[in-house]
Amino acid sequence: MTRRNIIATLLASPLLRAAEKPQSIRGKLQETDPPALQLPDGRRVILAGDESTLAVLHDERIANSDFEVQGKPKPPGGFQIDGIHLRSLFVHKDGKRLMVTYWCDVCYIRTYVPGKCWCCQKYTDLDLRESLE
Ligand SMILES: [Zn+2]
Repeated sequence: MTRRNIIATLLASPLLRAAEKPQSIRGKLQETDPPALQLPDGRRVILAGDESTLAVLHDERIANSDFEVQGKPKPPGGFQIDGIHLRSLFVHKDGKRLMVTYWCDVCYIRTYVPGKCWCCQKYTDLDLRESLE
């Protein structure tokens, strides 16, 4: 087999595709340091992520919410959340799965990290959204 064929075979493998698909866990968001999810079965999973993701996880406005993250298990007993650009953070509310976003109503700018609007410096509002149209 040529190198290219090996790569093509690997890419077609169902096992590898399964490994690439993000897994998700859902529970109560605990804004400890590091943050954690309390799963329905009582297990506490320590969450890891990039700097922007961790900033969201420490946003007091979503503390103790019914929260879902996507990524992959990080042994032992932890969970590595996918990068902020993959939109891997959700709040479940009133039967809906909502993406965590932030909105500046002065500039009409949406961001994905809590803090000041980069344009007008206003502290952005938490804006939970079903979609990003
Ligand atoms: Zn602004």
